[in-house]
Amino acid sequence: AFYGDSFIDINDKVVPIDERGHQFGDGVYEYVKVYNGTPFLLDEHLERLEKSALNILLQLPYSRQEIKDFIQEGLRRSGLQNSDIYIQVTRGISPRNHLFPTNVPAQFAMTIRSGKVVPNEQRKQGISVMILEDERWANCFIKSLNLLPNLLAKQKAFEHGHGEAILSRDGYITEGSSSNVFAVKDGVLYTTPATNRILHGITRAAVIECASKLNIPFKEYDMSEDFLRHADEVFITSTSVEVLPVSKVESITLPDERPITTALAQAYSELYATNEAHA
Ligand code: PMP
Repeated sequence: AFYGDSFIDINDKVVPIDERGHQFGDGVYEYVKVYNGTPFLLDEHLERLEKSALNILLQLPYSRQEIKDFIQEGLRRSGLQNSDIYIQVTRGISPRNHLFPTNVPAQFAMTIRSGKVVPNEQRKQGISVMILEDERWANCFIKSLNLLPNLLAKQKAFEHGHGEAILSRDGYITEGSSSNVFAVKDGVLYTTPATNRILHGITRAAVIECASKLNIPFKEYDMSEDFLRHADEVFITSTSVEVLPVSKVESITLPDERPITTALAQAYSELYATNEAHA
């Protein structure tokens, strides 16, 4: 792990009481997957981190190149080929006050852990999802540390036996609690438009590119809850789950055949398998 300006042991107790990330969730984060020793779509993730920081008026303490150097050093120390990198930047350490502190440097933190993988069985079968009210704020394109509504939704879905909560605002699907949502109807691929209502997923963008390469018709579209329930295929995307099929929307079982989901999952996995070639 890394905190502030140095590498530390992941179990070290380092975060001061007055860390604003800790007290207010006053910060932003990224989550990057490493395949075969190379962070996948790293520039895209770091660009989003810069955009998130800018939008909460936070100045990143390190340049993109410095962050890349810390990542390389962290990967070397970890000895891992396939890992998950978590990066967060907060508004620093200062006695608790809602107003921004002045002349206090932002705090950078990073962990690198062994890569989590979705079990093959689940990937094949797909997950079941529950639609819940999107109770988040108006700026969901910012990857902010404030994840309480996401956690509450995910926990509720889990307690009802589902693998993900799909959030809905004013009757239209926004995204998952930690994923973006796609549906296929009559051969056309749909996903929620990239507005302030959703996180502009890096995986979402990569999958849209795969669809274009495969000549799959695609539309950004505000999907109603019923549109999702009556779709031919539904899947979620994120850095951690990649392209994951949805087999059930609440009590409604979706068709077993998922040709487009399968093709896109395959295309996405080919992208990261040739990761090194793009690095
Ligand atoms: N939406 C939300 C709310 C998320 O937390 C995530 C996961 N970071 C995503 C979408 C997917 O984004 P990405 O593909 O960049 O991981």
